[in-house]
Amino acid sequence: MQGKLELMLGPMRSNKTAELLRRADMRRQYAGQYVMVLKPSDDTKGGPGVVESRNPRGHGKMHALEFKSNDPWEILQAISDKELEIGKRVECIAIDEGQFVDELFPLTRRLLDENHDVLVAGLDLDFRAIPFGEMLNLAWFVNAYGGSITECIAYCSCGNRALYSQRLIEGEPAPYDSPIKMPGDSYEPRCAEHFVLPGRPH
Ligand SMILES: [Zn+2]
Repeated sequence: MQGKLELMLGPMRSNKTAELLRRADMRRQYAGQYVMVLKPSDDTKGGPGVVESRNPRGHGKMHALEFKSNDPWEILQAISDKELEIGKRVECIAIDEGQFVDELFPLTRRLLDENHDVLVAGLDLDFRAIPFGEMLNLAWFVNAYGGSITECIAYCSCGNRALYSQRLIEGEPAPYDSPIKMPGDSYEPRCAEHFVLPGRPH
């Protein structure tokens, strides 16, 4: 038996985390499943051990286990410890901010092959509008193992659908060559017309 993958992709403010938590909650409430919610420790949205949606009307905070984004394999030990503790299988693993997780592709395969359903939410593109981490590669598992891909929709302030996450540094569009991770930046969803990327090579 292998698990299935539910992939939730989109730009900033597309309610990805809220959707992940909603699905985790439904599995707990209606399917009686044990769902472990995990997040890489690079995430800065919530406090330690808490996955928090930015949408104030979405589902509230939920306890999450933090793991190091550059060493996600510690998840496997945490799962077997939890299974010993609760005396049953962990049916579902939910990972938020998947774009930050190193080796996300082989990790997902391992979890699916060990018969966990896997939920992954994260950004599809980075601020340069190119694929972020291994999120888009995970689509392969949906074809191969079954499951679903959900494109979470965000809107530009002009009313059009936003495909991109506009990065701002002190309120100004961030240049193409600014570092991927940087304190003090902010993001807003923008459509193609309003997405600005100074210094982009193409
Ligand atoms: Zn726009």
